[in-house]
Amino acid sequence: MTAQTLRDLLPTASGRTIVVRSDLNCPLDEGTVTDDGRIRASLPVITQLAEAGAKVIVMAHLGRPNGTVTPEFSLAPVAKRMRELTDIPVTLADDITGPDAQQRAQQLEPRQILLLQNVRFDARETSKNDTERTELAQEIAALAGDHAAYVNDAFGAVHRKHASVYDIATILPSYQGTLVATELHVLNQLILEPKRPYTVVLGGSKVSDKLAVIDNLLDRADTLLIGGGMAYTFLKAQGYDVASSLLEEDQIPVVKDYLARSAAGAAKIVVPVDTVVAEAFSADAAHAVVTVDAMTSGPGGSDALGLDIGPETANIYAEHIAASATVFWNGPMGVFEMENFAAGTRTVAEALSKVNGLSVVGGGDSAAAVRALGFDDEQFGHISTGGGASLEYLEGKALPGIDALAK
Ligand code: ADP
Ligand code: MG
Repeated sequence: MTAQTLRDLLPTASGRTIVVRSDLNCPLDEGTVTDDGRIRASLPVITQLAEAGAKVIVMAHLGRPNGTVTPEFSLAPVAKRMRELTDIPVTLADDITGPDAQQRAQQLEPRQILLLQNVRFDARETSKNDTERTELAQEIAALAGDHAAYVNDAFGAVHRKHASVYDIATILPSYQGTLVATELHVLNQLILEPKRPYTVVLGGSKVSDKLAVIDNLLDRADTLLIGGGMAYTFLKAQGYDVASSLLEEDQIPVVKDYLARSAAGAAKIVVPVDTVVAEAFSADAAHAVVTVDAMTSGPGGSDALGLDIGPETANIYAEHIAASATVFWNGPMGVFEMENFAAGTRTVAEALSKVNGLSVVGGGDSAAAVRALGFDDEQFGHISTGGGASLEYLEGKALPGIDALAK
């Protein structure tokens, strides 16, 4: 069954309590939100419900407090930022389903927002024990009283079988939030009949993080462009000496298998022809561009550390991207956090921003990279808000939070 969406819920929302799971996991610095992107992205669903006359209870997590009340992971800074961004009254409960939340939920009026404290302060949220999670979900549903409904708008959490993501959807009538619906719509275009040529750009630090996605996309995409730290395991598998570059020795057999599948007709795998090698892993380390068959010694005879794809590789990748109708990019091409090793990521991002077709950026660090390098979100077809969730969806895995909504 396909899930119902916000559009189905809004006409009947007036006077009801609607529990919304949002992704408000924002970076903080000394108690202040430093990037409010997720709050801004989440507010439309919350405010539309409030404006439709609902009493809105919002659940969210922040950081990894591991089931204990941890003041540094309080949602107070998030509540403060929400108040700055909307005129609708926002109150924050001191607890999740405790006396304070209960009292505030009871006093909640239509067109008001109650944010519960960090759901991960309660160990039952992420428990592997179904009974424990169900118990928490029932307590949350009880806060909302009769005729309540649930909206999941936290795409970044849909791959988790958590109480606020999965179990509550089995208790209350459930709906996809707009963010979730949009993500699925875009990701489905990458899986079901993508427009061709379809190119996937993969980078980041480790191959082992991306094995399942490579596995699945080898049979769906036309070309895989490999960069970032994982490129060195591919190069090593092809017989190159990668010196001190990031290498996952134990993944070489798997990578060899991918290369063999590619040669036998799966997606074409393209690896770097040149690379930027540095003397050390630091922003001001001496560095040089070398071809991949000359990585043995770095600047001044040092042990070379590959920290970015080289300019020729970046141009080759940009040409592949420019010729594509669909591009999915996950994982920076180099250590973009250091300016000397950001050029490869910048060239690829630039090419992606000009794609005549669908361009999708997935992955937390990839999204951070395009923003840090000065690109606007609007320059890309879509920037996925959920790194792990979008990868798991592209791997072909079931997403518990999505499946629960469709039941
Ligand atoms: P995403 O979050 O987009 O999925 P990852 O978490 O897989 O991306 O990887 C991001 C990290 O990979 C960045 O912090 C970047 O510095 C690092 N990285 C990229 N290239 C290299 C490299 N050659 N050596 C070491 N780390 C790298
Ligand atoms: Mg990451």
